[in-house]
Parts: sequence; C-alpha cells; structure tokens
Amino acid sequence: MSEKKIVIIGGGQASSQVATSLRQKNFTGEITILSSERYLPYQRPPLSKKYLSGELDSERLYLKPEKFYKEQDINIMLGSYVEAVDRKNSSLIFSGLGAKESKINYDNLVIATGTTPRRISLENSDLGGVHYLRSIADVEEIKKSLTGAKNMVIIGGGYIGLEVAAVAKTIGLNVTVVEMASRILERVTSPVISSFYHSFHESKGVKIMTSTSVNGINGDTKVSSVETSSGTIDADIVIVGIGVLPCQSLAEECGVETGNGIMVNEYCVTSDSNIFSAGDCTLHPSAFYKKDIRLESVHNAIEQGKTVASSIMEEFIPYNQIPWFWSDQYNLKFQIAGLNVDYDDLIVRGSPKENSFSVFYFKNGLMISSDCVNSAQEHMMSRRLIFNKSKINLEKLEDKEINIKEVIL
Ligand SMILES: Cc1cc2nc3c(=O)[nH]c(=O)nc-3n(C[C@H](O)[C@H](O)[C@H](O)COP(=O)(O)OP(=O)(O)OC[C@H]3O[C@@H](n4cnc5c(N)ncnc54)[C@H](O)[C@@H]3O)c2cc1C
Repeated sequence: MSEKKIVIIGGGQASSQVATSLRQKNFTGEITILSSERYLPYQRPPLSKKYLSGELDSERLYLKPEKFYKEQDINIMLGSYVEAVDRKNSSLIFSGLGAKESKINYDNLVIATGTTPRRISLENSDLGGVHYLRSIADVEEIKKSLTGAKNMVIIGGGYIGLEVAAVAKTIGLNVTVVEMASRILERVTSPVISSFYHSFHESKGVKIMTSTSVNGINGDTKVSSVETSSGTIDADIVIVGIGVLPCQSLAEECGVETGNGIMVNEYCVTSDSNIFSAGDCTLHPSAFYKKDIRLESVHNAIEQGKTVASSIMEEFIPYNQIPWFWSDQYNLKFQIAGLNVDYDDLIVRGSPKENSFSVFYFKNGLMISSDCVNSAQEHMMSRRLIFNKSKINLEKLEDKEINIKEVIL
C-alpha cells in the first residue's frame, strides 16, 4: 500500500497538507503535486492584509521552503494545469510551462483545486485597473495599479473587500465600498457585527454604500469611474470581491459527484473511492450542523488535508470539526467560530465602543457560533463550548467581569 502513487491537483494549503501529512505518516510511495501557479504552496490570508500593504514579501508566504519538498521527496510540478481526469485509465492530462500536453498516472488522486473569484458580468470589467484577489500574481498586478492611484472602489462588502479597504485607507487612498445588500458582511454575520464594522470603517474615512448596485465600469483602456445605482464614483483602481466559486469542473467532467462543491464523505472520499478531495472545493457532511457545508478557511483546508492523508493510509478517522476563521482589519482581530445560520438568540459580551467584544449565537439553547473582536480568550473558549454542546449560564456569559471559563453550568 505504501508504494502507491499519489497525485494531488492544486498547489494550495490543502494540497501541501496532504503531502506533508502523508510523509509524517511514513508513506513511502510517490507523491506528485500539480499546481497551476508558479509559486510554491503559500498562505493566502496575508494577500489582502500584510502582503498587500508590503509588510511581507512572497518568500514569507510559503508554507514550506523548497528544500522541504526535496528532502521529503515530494515532486512539485509548478505551472502545471490539469485539463482532464481519465478515471477509466487512472490518469490525468495536464499542460505545463510552455510544454505540450502530458499525461500522468495515479493510484489515488486528490483534488484540492480551491476556489476561483466570482466574475462580475459587466462590460468593461476587463479594463486596466480592475482586479480580483486570489493569488500572489493578482496582488502583484494590484500593486502596479496602486502606483499613483488616488481613488479605489471596492465592489462587495465581504471580508476580502473590507480587508483591502483597511489597507488602502491606511496607505492614503480615497476608498468607497459598494455593497448590493442592505448591510456589509450580510452573508456571514449578524447585524451587530455588520454595524460595528460599518462604523469603524467610516470612522477611518472609508465611504460605504449599501443597498447599491454597480451598473457599469467606465474608461478607455483603464478604469476611470464606476456607475452605481446611487451615482458615479471616480476610480483609478477597482477591486471586485463578490465571492468565490468552487473549482469543480475536473470532477464534474469525469463524473465525480458535485453540488456546491465536490461531494465528499466524512473521510474526504469522493463518489469514486480512488479519488479524495480537500479544502475550499469540497462539500462535506458536518456532523455538528447535520448538513452538507462548503467552507472557505485555512483551518478546514488543513484539517481536511490531514483527513485525506489518513484515509489514503486506510486509517479512517472521520472529519468532525467546528469551523473557525479570522479577519484582520486595521488593529481589529476578528475571530469567528462555528456557523451562525438559523440562530434564534444572541448574547453580546463586552462593548463594541471599546473595540473589544464578542457575540455568541444560540439555537435551541445551545451555542452554535461566536464572533469575537479583539477577544482571543472568548474565541478559544467558545470553540470548546460549541464542540462540547456545553450548557451555559447566559447571565454570566453576558457579564464581561466574569471569567468566560465560569459560564458553564
Ligand atoms: C485574499 C484572501 C484572504 C483570505 N483570508 C483568510 C483568513 O483571514 N482566514 C482564513 O481562514 N482563510 C482566509 N482565506 C481563505 C483561505 O486562504 C482558503 O480557505 C485556503 O487557501 C483554501 O486552501 P485550498 O488548498 O483549498 O485552496 P487554494 O489555496 O485556493 O489552492 C488551490 C490551488 O489549486 C490550483 N488549481 C486549481 N485548478 C487547478 C488545475 N486544474 N490544475 C492545477 N492546479 C489547479 C490553484 O491555482 C491553487 O493554487 C483567504 C483567501 C484569500 C484569497
């Protein structure tokens, strides 16, 4: 079994984790990573934070240095785009840096292709100065457009849009965020948090336009303004952050089951028992939330990567995690645990005015999720409370003076 040949499609967080965990488990067979990017696997979170602001260089983003892959005998083929999976012959067709199509065989295949930004369907959306943000290459282009720029328009008030707004404002641009929904972060959090971030960004000078749709992008070769339902906004740089779509076409085309993501079971096995999948591209059953979910988070990519490695080694350990995520904007560290969908009650602990508070979400008396702003201890504790389905004294929870460890009944 150890002599199996593993091929991993994708060179991101999940892919790197599968390869690393396999070697940690003393897997001695061949491991090949095919990545369409030209960089070694890297962390994406800093792309909209310290890498965009210039505080980190690209080498610091790498998850492992090049020598690690050499020492671990992990063959990374950068600039290799997988075109198709031939399940009958257990092989892949890929095109490499300038080379013609090549073929590679596998015993087990791992699809860890992540997501791709949702494109905006407007004329002129390919003008110079209009950008998406997913990769190092995207940030390099954004940095070029930032040179001499004065006015940035961000389409979409989600995490990435707001993180970019914080960086752009800090380096002195005029920043406008245009959000179609009635509040920013609407898809992911409660009105309490949306309103806090709205006010905080405004206090820094960011203009936020909610319930506003973008109807057009103007310019000749380069963007000059953005047409919205509330008027025209000058822009010499536009960032589109309107969500992502799972990269699942390879799975779809070879007949592996998909929904809103590549469907896997609790062991990260797809509908083909020789094919596994991990990270942002998967739709997996959540034991805790009792439904299929697709997550876009580092934690999920790492943990599913470990699950895939265990499953390949035939040590079947079910994936059973409470999701968590973070977002850094200005000096605010926002940490999210669990999913707050369908909550029927919430408790606010601490004070938004002091930029340090937490919101805990409940359903049928059980904590299902938390949003913590500059409250790391509350975040860590809430992950335990959620996972353990702890019974909680709500009055104590609401009182910031009482240690969070004392809220369990
Ligand atoms: C700007 C930004 C900020 C973020 N901030 C946070 C944060 O603060 N906290 C957090 O938890 N998460 C954050 N995330 C999300 C996090 O980075 C992702 O959840 C994580 O990278 C998912 O890892 P992955 O391996 O599934 O996918 P990815 O890291 O996207 O890797 C997928 C790889 O597959 C490659 N690929 C796709 N198709 C093919 C193909 N056909 N052939 C070959 N290669 C292919 C892609 O090029 C890519 O290299 C952020 C993401 C972005 C973009």
